Amino acid sequence: MKPGKVYLVGAGPGDPRLLTVGGAECVGRADVVVYDRLINPQLLSLARPDAELIYVGKGPQERQAEQEDITALLVSRALEGKTVVRLKGGDPYVFGRGGEEAETLVAAGVPFEVLPGVTSAIAAPAYAGIPLTHRDYASSFAVVTGRESEDRDWVRTGWDKLATATDTLVVLMGLGNIEAIVENLVGHGRPASTPVALVHRGTQPQQVTVTGTLADIVQRARDAKLSSPVAMVVGEVVRLRERLRWFDSRPLFGKRVLVPRTREQAGQLSRLLAEAGAQPVELPTISVHPPTDWGPLDKAIGHLSRYRWIAFTSVNGVKFFFQRLQAKKRDTRALGRCHIAAIGPATAKALEARYLRPDLIPAEYTSAEVFVELIKVIVPGQRVLLPRADIAPEVLAEGLRKYGAAVDEVAAYHTETPSGPSAEAQALFRNGQVDAVAFTSSSTVQGLVALLGPDRGTLDRCVVACIGPVTAATARELGLRVDVEAAEHTIQGLVQALAAFAVRR
Ligand code: SAH
Repeated sequence: MKPGKVYLVGAGPGDPRLLTVGGAECVGRADVVVYDRLINPQLLSLARPDAELIYVGKGPQERQAEQEDITALLVSRALEGKTVVRLKGGDPYVFGRGGEEAETLVAAGVPFEVLPGVTSAIAAPAYAGIPLTHRDYASSFAVVTGRESEDRDWVRTGWDKLATATDTLVVLMGLGNIEAIVENLVGHGRPASTPVALVHRGTQPQQVTVTGTLADIVQRARDAKLSSPVAMVVGEVVRLRERLRWFDSRPLFGKRVLVPRTREQAGQLSRLLAEAGAQPVELPTISVHPPTDWGPLDKAIGHLSRYRWIAFTSVNGVKFFFQRLQAKKRDTRALGRCHIAAIGPATAKALEARYLRPDLIPAEYTSAEVFVELIKVIVPGQRVLLPRADIAPEVLAEGLRKYGAAVDEVAAYHTETPSGPSAEAQALFRNGQVDAVAFTSSSTVQGLVALLGPDRGTLDRCVVACIGPVTAATARELGLRVDVEAAEHTIQGLVQALAAFAVRR
């Protein structure tokens, strides 16, 4: 049988965006993915659902025998004709033993390719605001191992020459040995006043940077109780951090924000939170299903031409309405001359994706504002269709009816809140793993409160943020303290309000 191929792929230092396009493509194609401890588990979601994922978590104390098992595994899977990805933290050829793995593959006659990765030696300093070279401060850098246990490396490193050979020195795997490293550098001529930065878990939400000089960095690392992995940067470039830091100065940096949403919808909120520096923690609280009875919606779809207006108050409303329209073998022409209202930009976007431009979007994205705007344009007696969730508040329909409109309010979908508490949700809050919660609808509030059950008091310990007044009212009714209410009732507005709150604090 023709052997498969092994790809030695650099996964980057943690931020999933630092995987290369080629690396992502390989992972997506692989039959087998062999990965170790330092890689971001999120990257594994790129693998095919039927791919074999093999964890070979090497700790800092990995032994030669384990390394041999790993290479044997790569060889045997490849000889079965499989496409194998060996996913390694950072770059596979920078202290990753990728070279040894490649040698074994060559010896076994297994074809291979290398996809270099973004090494932590460069990325961790960059995310700490430290360029390794700079016209004014440094024109060279070296990357060395600080590990003493592998004594051949230690001896070979030649600190006498390294201490002053390059302007910038990056030491990987050096934390456990930092005292000796500092002694060697100072002993061989580096001034004790040289700035040093220790970057722990660079590019990740847990990134911590400790700075000092060769004279005091050992004590500072101890005071900060720093643990591995740490990239150590020695040199004048470290001074640039004060001006160039960006990653850990974002407003929500390091904050764990709970995103209680439906599984399908969490994406955008999580992405925006991550952009603001937060670590989104997704917890599905409500699920969205077809309505228990299609009857009313089908009836409305049967005579759409009667409606003067259709008002959509959620993305799900749009989604289910058009799915049903199609299931009934009709298309957008069935909407005829109906005017269309959308509660806000996200709903409008869902309509535009179906080539429909809403005639009305209120300036403030609440159902109360949809009402205010609608009564300006309809006259009593005209028909209005409201396709919505079966548990949505009825203010809009009631208001329009009082005004004299003929309102058909039909369930386009059904939201299910959890029936009881969940140990997973309770543990998140009990262990203090949540700094803030971002509620995007009344149903997410109800859902989370149900999941916490008797533990709902633990919500007091975190910041509660709501997308708008209706959601906030639901939260208060359920006994929660609302700390942040978005001025603009969109996902973006919610993230902005939360960021502004964090900055004020
Ligand atoms: N091949 C990897 C290095 C593997 S050796 C690379 O190119 O990045 C493991 C060492 O890398 C750790 O001890 C630490 O010094 C460094 N390291 C790996 N990931 C890191 C991260 N996210 N932040 C800081 N240092 C990291």
